[in-house]
Amino acid sequence: MARFARVMLDQKTGRLFDYEIPAPLADAVSVGSRVAVPVRDRQINGTVVELLDEPSVATVKPIARLLGERPAIAPTLLRLADWIATYYCCPVEVAMRAILPQVIRNAKMTHKTIRSVRLARPIDPETLAALKRRAPRQAEVLEALAPFPDGVPLPALSERLHGAREAVAHLADKGLVATFDSAIARDPWRNESFVHHAPLELNAEQRVAFDAVRETVRAPGKTAPVLLHGVTGSGKTEIYLQAIQIALDAGRGAIMLVPEISLTPQTVERFKSRFLHSGTDVAVLHSHLSDGERHDEWHRIRDGRARIVIGARSAVFAPVQNLGLIVVDEEHENSYKQEEAPRYHGRDIAVVRGSFEPCAVLLGSATPSIESYQNAATGKYRLVELTQRVDDKKMPAIRVIDLRQETIKQKRHAIISDKLAAAIRLRIERGEQSILFLNRRGFSSSIICPKCGHVCKCPDCSLSLTFHRAAKRLVCHLCGHTEKSPPVCPSCSDPAIRFQGVGTERVEESLGALFPEAKVRRMDADTMTRKEAYRETLHAFKTGKIDILVGTQMIAKGLHFPNVTLVGIVNADSALHLADFRASERTFQLLVQVAGRAGRGDVEGEVIIQSFTPFHPAIQYAKRHDYAGFREQEIALRERCGFPPFTHLVLVTVRSPHESVAELSAKTLAKALDVDLPEGVKLLGPNPAPLERAHGQYRFQISLDSPKVLALSRHIRAVLNATPLPEETFAAVDVDPYQLL
Ligand code: ADP
Ligand code: ZN
Repeated sequence: MARFARVMLDQKTGRLFDYEIPAPLADAVSVGSRVAVPVRDRQINGTVVELLDEPSVATVKPIARLLGERPAIAPTLLRLADWIATYYCCPVEVAMRAILPQVIRNAKMTHKTIRSVRLARPIDPETLAALKRRAPRQAEVLEALAPFPDGVPLPALSERLHGAREAVAHLADKGLVATFDSAIARDPWRNESFVHHAPLELNAEQRVAFDAVRETVRAPGKTAPVLLHGVTGSGKTEIYLQAIQIALDAGRGAIMLVPEISLTPQTVERFKSRFLHSGTDVAVLHSHLSDGERHDEWHRIRDGRARIVIGARSAVFAPVQNLGLIVVDEEHENSYKQEEAPRYHGRDIAVVRGSFEPCAVLLGSATPSIESYQNAATGKYRLVELTQRVDDKKMPAIRVIDLRQETIKQKRHAIISDKLAAAIRLRIERGEQSILFLNRRGFSSSIICPKCGHVCKCPDCSLSLTFHRAAKRLVCHLCGHTEKSPPVCPSCSDPAIRFQGVGTERVEESLGALFPEAKVRRMDADTMTRKEAYRETLHAFKTGKIDILVGTQMIAKGLHFPNVTLVGIVNADSALHLADFRASERTFQLLVQVAGRAGRGDVEGEVIIQSFTPFHPAIQYAKRHDYAGFREQEIALRERCGFPPFTHLVLVTVRSPHESVAELSAKTLAKALDVDLPEGVKLLGPNPAPLERAHGQYRFQISLDSPKVLALSRHIRAVLNATPLPEETFAAVDVDPYQLL
């Protein structure tokens, strides 16, 4: 039996430590166990990563405490932590933070318990008869408990029987009942019930796709991940559901990843109503869970009580036992990329975890990322396609409106073109619903002085401030800084200072003026601050209490409302002109996704895209629902320019509150990186980041590209470890970045 354990502390140390396993814990400690260990005069939590017969140092201290009876982390997940550290160039302790939720790591949270009561022994008729005469309430309690051998929560009992608590106390004294604490789950969905939703008969196209998926679920580790490219409404979700059923039938569990914003009650409902009836529980993981809820969901998954997990990015690390399948819906979504260390990509982790487990991996999208499609083209993934909407429903007709002409016609900045207004009016008359989409919240995107050109900027970031009319304040959308809106230009005191650009608040206002009789509701980060607001608004929309829903990304994804027959995109250009090689791809994806919200019912849908650059390829291909066409021109461009997927990009961002320190440190680092650069790596910079200042920090970037990540990652890590940075100065490494600002 192993007498020593090698422990990775939760805190960044860059090394592992050996401890003795005290005899009473000998059976219980294994790889993946969580332990508290003495470090100098403190106790620190950590994870056992290896069992040893001999320690590597002469004197070792004993483990202080074992946290939890069973190992928290399966060996596969430990291996994944190592992989993340190596690939994404971060300390393994930081990688661990993604894998093990904070609430589990600090091991302070316990299960919520409830006082319950049950019969201590079978009721004997004489005792019962005697009680009925002398203490009828006690007799009633005994009779009430008889059908429940596992006990009844005391509050529930008291609710039914007045005076039950007192009676229970007397009965306990007599040894007739026993009270005990039992764990109850903090289930965020406990008040909901679900109607069973049976599997649908697949159509011919779905069947072909499903056969491919079934093959990989049945032969994990022997087949490539499947990329399911299916137009919106083609029945991808039905395939996910049936694929998960195959995994369950094989006695295995499943993880279903969805982007945070599409983790709607609707989505969860669809999964619960398929699986709950067969006794398979579904755990839900997202960023709005309370610590208690997260704790309980994690244990439900780890203990095998919930075999299906549906969740956002971090759910890819869910401790599902005997994992059979990971599904990544909307695999192209940028929200799968974590923008703080460890900067992993959920989809890529799914593929890696799939090969470690091994288990099947299914990626789905109406607009696969250029990277994933390329992986399919080169045979790394297996491609299956759904080209038709279910029931041959037509794709909605898309019209593009040229805002330049509209502005000339309306003689002012057109927010809602005449054609869009007419289309909305038609929907109101017919009792149908419309969705208007805009990528920017607030009232205006900036506030500018027409006299001197002064733009109100955030004092801490190089970004212009957005005017929020309801709050009458200017807000920085990056750091949250707010200030009062100036009545005159702060620079030249001209009173003509005015708003430029359009936000959701302004669209809402225009709609109010155009259609005073219509019920308009706005859905963005400003109106959705309460936890329940999202569900309430969607419910109101579903039940027809809203005619027009105005919103940001929040409404672009996954929603399914049959009565929505019109989708308007107020300004398709807002993402196009960013200094980012993915700008065009993002716009195309967004337009197709938003368009997919129209015509999900019996009436054909219509989509109106407003744009100042109506002939941009992203808009023109989206108009024709032409993914293949878009992809072909985009991949050619990427190849010509040497962008991903033809290379891997790594961005090193150096930041400091002092500009000169940031610049000098970046230069020093770039010089050090340039020495012994691995073959094929190109280094650029340092340059001021496109977003030169954020949160009061000056930012400089070094950009590296390389055909292979691992060697470069290792090189960067070694250089960073050997190059101390001045105080308050940090270098962040982002491998395969999505935020180039
Ligand atoms: P996607 O995920 O590709 O957008 P969904 O799976 O949500 O598509 O399917 C769209 C609609 O079609 C849903 O209402 C779904 O219940 C229905 N549907 C899917 N597959 C079938 C089928 N084989 N037969 C009938 N209806 C189906
Ligand atoms: Zn700011």
